[in-house]
Amino acid sequence: MNIGLFVCDCGKNISGTINNDKIIEYFSQYPDVFVFREQYLCSELGLKEIKEEIEEKQIDRVVIAACSFKLHGSLFQKTIEKVGINRFLIAFANIREQNSWVHSHHPQKATQKAIDQIKMAIAQVRLLNPLEMQSVSIIPRILIIGGGVAGIKAALIIANAGYQVYLVEREPTIGGHMALFDKTFPTLDCSICILGPLMSEVNEHPNIKLLTYSEVKKIEGYIGNFKVTIKKKPRFIDEDECVGCFDICRDVCPIDVVDTFFPRKAIDVPYPQAIPLLPTILEEECIGCKACAQACDRNAIDFDQEPQEIQIEVGAIIVSTGLKTFDPTILAELNYQKYQDVITTLQLERLLNNDGPTGGKIIKPSSGKTPKRVSFILCVGSRNKKIDHEYCSQVCCNASIKQAILLKKEYPNIDVTVYYTDIRAVGKNCEEFYNRAREEFGVRFIKSNISAIVHSDTSEELIIRGEDVIENVLFEHTTDLAVLAVGIEPAEGTTQLSQILNISQDPYGFLLEKHLKVKPSESSVNGIYIAGAIQGPKDIPSSIAQAESAASKAIALISRKEIELDPHIVYYNPEKCDMCRLCESICN
Ligand SMILES: Cc1cc2nc3c(=O)[nH]c(=O)nc-3n(C[C@H](O)[C@H](O)[C@H](O)COP(=O)(O)OP(=O)(O)OC[C@H]3O[C@@H](n4cnc5c(N)ncnc54)[C@H](O)[C@@H]3O)c2cc1C
Ligand code: SF4
Ligand code: SF4
Repeated sequence: MNIGLFVCDCGKNISGTINNDKIIEYFSQYPDVFVFREQYLCSELGLKEIKEEIEEKQIDRVVIAACSFKLHGSLFQKTIEKVGINRFLIAFANIREQNSWVHSHHPQKATQKAIDQIKMAIAQVRLLNPLEMQSVSIIPRILIIGGGVAGIKAALIIANAGYQVYLVEREPTIGGHMALFDKTFPTLDCSICILGPLMSEVNEHPNIKLLTYSEVKKIEGYIGNFKVTIKKKPRFIDEDECVGCFDICRDVCPIDVVDTFFPRKAIDVPYPQAIPLLPTILEEECIGCKACAQACDRNAIDFDQEPQEIQIEVGAIIVSTGLKTFDPTILAELNYQKYQDVITTLQLERLLNNDGPTGGKIIKPSSGKTPKRVSFILCVGSRNKKIDHEYCSQVCCNASIKQAILLKKEYPNIDVTVYYTDIRAVGKNCEEFYNRAREEFGVRFIKSNISAIVHSDTSEELIIRGEDVIENVLFEHTTDLAVLAVGIEPAEGTTQLSQILNISQDPYGFLLEKHLKVKPSESSVNGIYIAGAIQGPKDIPSSIAQAESAASKAIALISRKEIELDPHIVYYNPEKCDMCRLCESICN
């Protein structure tokens, strides 16, 4: 047996910590091991050298001491196959992610650990047998979970390519957050005018099966062959009979669900452009008076409807479950929820929206009067180590600038002030957008730290306390409406969904990409892709770009018809196994 040990420097990624000279010296003493070192094994030059050395030294088994198998493992497998070695006669010692990167302060111990890792890989490679690849057919259908703008765009791309799509949306309508906005930055074009036609196209597309008010409950299987169980909640509406004349049943309903920003009746649609345009009865609000059933001349109200379980089989999955906004109640000093006139940017979106609760009129929730002064507080729930939200939410500067401009356009006399940490007007044309807010619309920007929002003892005003960090002075400014630019978090229920799908989350709970730079739309599980704000805070253009990437990857997979599966199959030793079943819970 001739074993080739190929050790990678990875520039200084590995050799900056691990003493590769020592590694070479150590393993050169092994009689049947040929040792090679390369600066970048995965480069064209490195791969060429592997092939040449294998042929020259008649190597029949290979150990790669480099980065994670997940990154370049299949590249090295294919390389040795090209020179006649079965691709499974290779073992990997991950001396980068599992060593040099995590032990950079302990180079000597890291070097010793690398020696141990390589010894184990050599012992392993001696025991390996050649294996043959197995092929299985791929189910040519794709499941998309989450029908916001990312899921909608992905669904249309796949459906237009001729493949079948199931689009599962938890809410009664698709559309996600974008459907709630009046205008979008930086172009200020009408949000629903862009999204509405796409939503209708999804509804009418023969290749898209839309499952709203539904959630994925169980997934079994593997890349190319997933079995999915979906639970569809009862709307108490017969979807085949209802024609969407929702004002008839809604108007007779005596139950008003009171909410300043999302008011509704017990039977209602989320908004007039909802897709599908079907009302939903809120079971917990309905008093069972049956007025809606009497008003409906199509007999479309069905109080006996039960939750439905639907089974589907798909070859690939895209997760695009999006975001939820940060709940600022935990920042007690801002007094959100204590004072009605402290609202969030998402709530202001509702007030700005012509189809919103006030028909686009800006009011102080406490009195219904138009505010004379509006103040935005940026970075609420973002860039804050104390609450483990160190990241920048990326969109809230631009969203606040947009809202400030919209306010000034509608109400030129309102005095608008933005209290910011840093302005991060990231994105094409966004810096110009910020400049317009200051120069054309007279929005005032103050770089500051805000310590509290309190209520005046003598008037209806709010008082914003803080420190102007440029002038270096403390201030107390009065305002009528305080708008908190809340940060972005992963959608509600992401942890449960990631457990169902067996995919990983990052420390903030967003879904983890396989590789931030080269595989940003792939999850940790083969055949499951991620798109939009569920991978991390993003604006609409970036969410769409990632959705397009995920869709094309999913199409590339299912269009292959067959997929090769890794033939490694684990077995367990019944004498040693104590049935803790940990392996079962992590196996994807
Ligand atoms: C206040 C505010 C203003 C903004 N303004 C702008 C702007 O003007 N311009 C701009 O470019 N960006 C803006 N953004 C950012 C924009 O909202 C996001 O980029 C965009 O919504 C991301 O789309 P998405 O499809 O990934 O997520 P979402 O819009 O959040 O959609 C996700 C969808 O998945 C569904 N879902 C969630 N969990 C599940 C589940 N388990 N099963 C099934 N379905 C599920 C949700 O119900 C939702 O329909 C703003 C954000 C905020 C908070
Ligand atoms: S039965 Fe329920 S939903 Fe229908 S009108 Fe009465 S309260 Fe409203
Ligand atoms: S986008 Fe702006 S407001 Fe939002 S967290 Fe980043 S810097 Fe703060």
